[in-house]
Amino acid sequence: MYKICLFGPQGSGKGTQADLMIKELDIPAVVPGNIFRHNISEKTELGQKVEEYTKAGKLVPDEITIEMIQNRLSEPDCASGFVVDGFPRNVSQAKSLNDRHDITHALLINISDEEAIHRLSRRRVCDCGATYHLDYNAPEKEGICNDCGKELYQRDDDKEDVIKKRLNIYHQETEPIFDIYKEKGVFHEVDGKQAIPKVWEDIKKILGP
Ligand SMILES: [Zn+2]
Repeated sequence: MYKICLFGPQGSGKGTQADLMIKELDIPAVVPGNIFRHNISEKTELGQKVEEYTKAGKLVPDEITIEMIQNRLSEPDCASGFVVDGFPRNVSQAKSLNDRHDITHALLINISDEEAIHRLSRRRVCDCGATYHLDYNAPEKEGICNDCGKELYQRDDDKEDVIKKRLNIYHQETEPIFDIYKEKGVFHEVDGKQAIPKVWEDIKKILGP
């Protein structure tokens, strides 16, 4: 059974690899952002708390995040395995996850800060939902959406100083988790700079037949 935690800096493409796992391993992906949104739209007790914190511009405390993820992991579809993408983000979250679940694979899809900044800061988006990358998937007309003709823009999250701040938090808070999984012998690293199919190939080798 696969109980996978996916790690990697922003821009490492771990969401794409999680999608491949859903399809090829037939396990659900557990993504904190989606769980937050689900709890908020269903107006669960936890969702209402999350809403209060986000409205006040505060970070959602660990206990609430942990409880929401644990609730999700105890749903029937997770009984035969799961991949968690974007959790745990710090050592205390990792410890409470490990109290309830034996993670079989902690997979780090690694790219350098330089690469992360390069990938994210060259991303452009359109209000219609289309996304572009100035190097890999540039719009036909500069600054204009192929699909709807509107002007493209850069998300605030994709601006270099914001990316750098998030990378620093990742280095300080998330990377220390890796030692926990190294000790358990379930930690693996994959070179995320490679093309998507090659990253997936490397992951499949780690996961075994
Ligand atoms: Zn558009």
